[in-house]
Amino acid sequence: MTKRIAMAQLTSCWGCDQSLLDLHLGLLEVLPELEIVFWPAVVDFKIKDLESMPDESIHIGLVEGSCRTEDDVRLLNLMRAKSKILVAWGVCSCYGGIQGLANQWELDELVDRKFMKADTVTDPRIPSENVPAFVPQVRPNVDVVKFNILLPGCPPTSKNIVEALAAILTGKPFDLPEKSVCDQCPKVKQDKHITKFHRSHEGRIDPSKCLLDQGYLCLGFATIGFCGAICPTVNSPCKGCFGPVLRVKDHGAKIVSALGAIAEMEPEQLKDSFPDPIGSFYFTDYAASYLSRMRDKARSKKK
Ligand code: SF4
Ligand code: SF4
Ligand code: SF4
Repeated sequence: MTKRIAMAQLTSCWGCDQSLLDLHLGLLEVLPELEIVFWPAVVDFKIKDLESMPDESIHIGLVEGSCRTEDDVRLLNLMRAKSKILVAWGVCSCYGGIQGLANQWELDELVDRKFMKADTVTDPRIPSENVPAFVPQVRPNVDVVKFNILLPGCPPTSKNIVEALAAILTGKPFDLPEKSVCDQCPKVKQDKHITKFHRSHEGRIDPSKCLLDQGYLCLGFATIGFCGAICPTVNSPCKGCFGPVLRVKDHGAKIVSALGAIAEMEPEQLKDSFPDPIGSFYFTDYAASYLSRMRDKARSKKK
């Protein structure tokens, strides 16, 4: 018997959808087992179609993106109510994603910048008709509803998606790996004596050696090893896009404490090496950080 599946998109780039479509013929492995009942990115489903379904009538619900608007929050809650197994699909859904970086500013500052002051604005006005209201802060979806499976990645690889779907369809447990990207990386690691950090386009990389040892900010040591170390394998430093290794609660804090231990530099020099520390250390998971949660708490208290 086929299993009913739904894919919902909250605020996101829809790259996770793309990763699913990138399966091409690989989709044939799982498609015969599935009946797609909601997937607005591909078929013209409306939210009323989802509302009309009985609770828990969807076997697998995949949620991509995070909540930037009140409509996102409504869709997320609906997906929870209608799905037996709810999957946080991609790092936006697990930890807030790149849009979580906006939590560094208040909502009115963001709206002002985007619609009134950005260099590209030619007709400054804040849209007020036919647009959903923004929520004040992006929160990880796990803070809003309970998920059964986390599938991190930006996006998760096609292989990650098939493995998760295959486990669900066969009733097997789906566990994330304990390993880090470093554990999957083929480069030779040595003792670290970092006296200077380079931008990734600077200098000449030795392709056999660890990029971090050579002074490139490679975050594989703090990042969950779920992608197969695809970036460092081709000499591009890991930016940490899959989120933290298991059991690390704050990805950026783990990175900062490790850099403090291995960088042989004065604190001021270390600070100057990273003009955008939040963007560098919390590329896709700032919304889940202690800093962002503390700011959210302080804002709620002020009200
Ligand atoms: S996790 Fe990455 S690829 Fe997926 S929707 Fe978010 S930004 Fe796009
Ligand atoms: S290159 Fe990056 S991922 Fe590979 S071992 Fe070094 S720090 Fe880890
Ligand atoms: S190596 Fe790092 S940046 Fe590249 S896909 Fe994996 S987690 Fe993301």
